[in-house]
Amino acid sequence: MFAQVAQKIRYFLYVRKSTDVEDKQVLSIEAQIVELKEFASKMGLEIVEIFIEKQTAKRPGRPVFNDMLHRIENGEADGIIAWLPDRLSRNSIDSGQIIYMLDENVLLDLKFPHWWFENTPQGKYMLANEFNASKQYVDNLSVNTKRGLRQKIRDGHYPCIAPFGYLNDVRTKTIVVHKKNAEIVRQAFGLYVMGDKTLDEIADFLFSRGIKTHGRRKTKNDPKSQGGNKWHANRVKYMLSNPFYYGHFVYAGEQHEGKHKPIIEKALFDRVQAVLCNRGKVQKLPTNPVPLCRLVRCGFCGCYISGAVKTKRQKNGNEHQYIYYRCTHKHKTVRCHEKEVREFMLASQLVTILQSLAMPRNWGDYMLERLATDELVTKNESNKVRAVLRDERDGLLSKIKRLFDVYLDGDIERDEYLERRAELMSEKKSLESKLEDLARDSGFWIEPMRQWVKTAVSLCEIGADTPHSEIAEVCRKIDGLNPLMKDKNVVAFGDGNIKSPLKNLWHALRAANQKPRAERGADEEMSLLVRLTRLERAQP
Ligand SMILES: [Zn+2]
Repeated sequence: MFAQVAQKIRYFLYVRKSTDVEDKQVLSIEAQIVELKEFASKMGLEIVEIFIEKQTAKRPGRPVFNDMLHRIENGEADGIIAWLPDRLSRNSIDSGQIIYMLDENVLLDLKFPHWWFENTPQGKYMLANEFNASKQYVDNLSVNTKRGLRQKIRDGHYPCIAPFGYLNDVRTKTIVVHKKNAEIVRQAFGLYVMGDKTLDEIADFLFSRGIKTHGRRKTKNDPKSQGGNKWHANRVKYMLSNPFYYGHFVYAGEQHEGKHKPIIEKALFDRVQAVLCNRGKVQKLPTNPVPLCRLVRCGFCGCYISGAVKTKRQKNGNEHQYIYYRCTHKHKTVRCHEKEVREFMLASQLVTILQSLAMPRNWGDYMLERLATDELVTKNESNKVRAVLRDERDGLLSKIKRLFDVYLDGDIERDEYLERRAELMSEKKSLESKLEDLARDSGFWIEPMRQWVKTAVSLCEIGADTPHSEIAEVCRKIDGLNPLMKDKNVVAFGDGNIKSPLKNLWHALRAANQKPRAERGADEEMSLLVRLTRLERAQP
């Protein structure tokens, strides 16, 4: 201890300024350095070197900071001067490291102009508290920002740049109609709905009204400015299918009801969607010559079965084209002997598999009805629970208010007040998270289940005449189907893993289908359905 006092402590000066929102109030780096140097000279502290960091301290891994600690470990200095503890760390790893270095006497002292640190157990305790506070500050801030955004979306405010035809009103932070452009949007919808205009022609129309891409601005290196071109057909399509125009908006893949003023009637929008859809079918994409490629895996080596078109020449000079599918034999360690198979053979086996998974239409109707009822019941139940929780929360709020009155009247001590208040606040917080969870989770399994039933019923349509590309598409829709080919035989659910609940449903359905319909009594059908619906309820 005496040795340490006798030895003059050498300090590193550490300044940090990041672009974080929470650091807005902090002095600039230059100002920090000036003030800290002045502070050091007043206190008679020796500064060995100045470290300047421009990264956030929210996460560990600041290069300059790490370099500084490393050099302290090497004995080049034994103290740090900084503006405030939060300059040194806003995350638990860096905080821990500083305190550890103090414990080990590698670091002997910290100095801040506006915060007193003493290298004693109490001093370290205070420092740890201060670090925690700045970490919590960061945590709260990011939670608050997210919560604010969620609230904004729930309130129906689109949190992004307004689409064409609207403007972001910076003053009120809402989205307002751009009168002139909204009229152009209406005309574009009106033109397209007639059905005789292409997307490109709509782009021409927009261009004639002065609507074009941004173009290039004049810069030093590029003195020519460019006017901007007409919109690409895709951009026109995006505009014509944006639900924003009839009052909804899509954010993070979810559609929300917006507060902004619609400029297109929903009916017109729907008719435009129908035209878009039909048009898409008219301009056919080039068909895939090997539609069943990369759909089935090889039962020997696990590689995908791929397709190839082969031409055979007959003796009389006629040429015939055949499509073959075979294992790519690309496995590095397994020598695979799976033979090739003609496309119609593969397709007919897949059709058989799909048919074995088809759900009879009357079952489908029954299950969809059940789902609708379930949805209603779940919604009602969740509404009831939420009403109770909301009442409880309101009760807590008034308790908190009353507690404050009691405290103001001087009936309880400040410590007791703070303690009781913290308890109530924490209870309120848990209630609120429960409410949030309920709003999110109630009946979340119903929609996937409905899609599953629809897919299962749609398999009734599959037959020998179904186009092969459609067979491939349907197979890909079935969760975990995983068809495997071994000795030219295709089996479904090849991996034997039936953990996924939807896959379980497919298995149950197939088992139910295995008995010919004529042999099933009405009772038996009903019990199968009950089994299916039970499985459905077992969804996580
Ligand atoms: Zn193989």
